[in-house]
Amino acid sequence: MNTISELQVRIGEVNIANGWRERVETFPTSQARAHAQITRLALITTEVSEAIEEIRVGRRPDETHYSHSKDSAYNEHERYNRDGSSRKPEGVPSELADVVIRALDAADAWGIDLEAMIAEKLEYNAQRGFRHGGKTA
Ligand SMILES: [Mg+2]
Repeated sequence: MNTISELQVRIGEVNIANGWRERVETFPTSQARAHAQITRLALITTEVSEAIEEIRVGRRPDETHYSHSKDSAYNEHERYNRDGSSRKPEGVPSELADVVIRALDAADAWGIDLEAMIAEKLEYNAQRGFRHGGKTA
């Protein structure tokens, strides 16, 4: 079992290897840096939108399905192609995973210990009380 910190490091390594970001990011201006940071955060919301679309087309939130393949015996619940390669997982579980992956990548890029912050937030939330703040939801 990987810790959240281990996942964060691994996600950063994969995204750097796949060319999605640099190990050390540099920007010509502070405005360019801010735009890149905002884009990274906005992309987390696109994964939430993809999850919403899965529900809108009638998928159950616990349902994983797989993208179409050139395999003639395509089955949307088959994880692998006949040659053993992985098909792209889709559905709410996959989109939730993307939310976490993007959040951990941002944390890795920005030098945030997200595991420690999750623990800190949980400690704080646990002491807040039943439906604190008087909100209905
Ligand atoms: Mg996605």
